Amino acid sequence: MRSREIRRGFLEFFESAGHRPVASAPLVPGDDPTLLFTNAGMNQFKDVFLGKEKRDYARATTAQKCMRVSGKHNDLDNVGPSPRHHTFFEMLGNFSFGDYFKAEAIPYAWRLLTDVWQLPKDRLYATIFMGEPGVPRDDQAYELWRKFLPADRIGELGAEDNFWQMGDTGPCGRCSEIYFVKDDGSMMEIWNNVFMEFDRQPGGVLVPLPAPSIDTGMGLERVTAVLQGVESNYDTDLFQPLVQDVAAMCGQPYVGTDAASTSMRVIADHMRACTFLIADGVIPSNEWRGYVLRKIMRRAMRHGKKLGITQPFMHELADRVVTEMGDAYPELKANRDSVVSVIRSEEERFDAVLTTGLGRLEQVLERAAASQRKVVPGDEMFRLYDSLGLPLDFIEDLASERQLAVDRAGYEAAMEAQRERARAGSHFEMARTQGFTVSVAGTQAALDALGDRFEGYDITELTE
Ligand code: ATP
Ligand code: MG
Ligand code: MG
Ligand code: MG
Repeated sequence: MRSREIRRGFLEFFESAGHRPVASAPLVPGDDPTLLFTNAGMNQFKDVFLGKEKRDYARATTAQKCMRVSGKHNDLDNVGPSPRHHTFFEMLGNFSFGDYFKAEAIPYAWRLLTDVWQLPKDRLYATIFMGEPGVPRDDQAYELWRKFLPADRIGELGAEDNFWQMGDTGPCGRCSEIYFVKDDGSMMEIWNNVFMEFDRQPGGVLVPLPAPSIDTGMGLERVTAVLQGVESNYDTDLFQPLVQDVAAMCGQPYVGTDAASTSMRVIADHMRACTFLIADGVIPSNEWRGYVLRKIMRRAMRHGKKLGITQPFMHELADRVVTEMGDAYPELKANRDSVVSVIRSEEERFDAVLTTGLGRLEQVLERAAASQRKVVPGDEMFRLYDSLGLPLDFIEDLASERQLAVDRAGYEAAMEAQRERARAGSHFEMARTQGFTVSVAGTQAALDALGDRFEGYDITELTE
């Protein structure tokens, strides 16, 4: 089964059970200041769960674009080593807004997995909330699962796994995670069914929602790996075209287990993320969302360098992402040219950074190696970043290759001091002088869209 059939199959299953198919919300949340990027299918329904907004449907189903690179859900450091964590991924979901609850949600999930998709029942495993002071064990979910699973395949876990919340505040509730037992016996979480019952207030107090509701999320990449019988999400048809493109570019095979393969996975992941982010109006910059995008792009470029790719390569891969995903997400096709050109100019910019910055970095590292403490001073790292744009993770990577420690605290302190100076300056003037962001065709509108959120750059590197 191809991933596009799996995506469609999910939506059709729930549509035929009375759910309204709703389009994915953009990765940039509408007006939720608690959220950097959309991180779950329920985000666009937050106010519906809270009873603040009414829709003309009580059941919905979506394939939602998600990013998990900050806040409560941050998987950035897992990407590359992990076969199942991405920065950008698609979350398939079904939702009930005060309509059905656990007694229907659990059988729906079971039927889709075992009837429609024919997954072997003895490879499935579920968890429920074990109970903690303030919120009792989920006896009802346990009893519902017992209709389908033997007791020894129902686990009980604490809040970390089985109490879901989008952020520090907002809709939340006990949940039940469904796992698939892989060939090697390890378990992979594929689907989370959240039983929304509370609205967490600032300070932590749980206030009941107007009505118990359902919010589920299943990673398309993970369930595709399961249904395609492969060990890693990167071996599915969602990633293989990209991974193979990278392999061809660097002239090394993707074998899965070596360092080069890890770099290929990072690049494939980050390419999807930056293509989708730019198509949704984010542009690389030194502040907030744009900064995260820039960080992801530079990480991908750094791994390209590791693989020995010397030419700008990311814009070609972006084209591949558009080709592969453009049918499911037409915004990619609509913005193909501007996405490719934003990526290309960021690649050229970073190349220039490396050309001028690497020599200076080498000098700093040599001095650190010759010193007693074998520590790269934080303020010097910050200067490399601030004046030349060399990112910290890049510096740390090279430092660790030479067995040098880095003074992160000193770096943060220098960053904070700079931030204060930047805040004191004129934000608007800084945006204007950030030459490249306004010079790329098609991105001015995106910059304008960010305008009212613009809080000034964290750092003032790279002004042209
Ligand atoms: P994990 O424990 O594996 O980190 P999670 O419990 O944090 O996952 P949920 O918040 O429950 O994930 O999200 C619902 C579903 O979305 C998960 O069951 C999984 O299939 C998928 N998912 C979550 N995070 C990622 C990610 N970083 N990359 C790909 N899929 C993900
Ligand atoms: Mg997680
Ligand atoms: Mg989990
Ligand atoms: Mg989960």
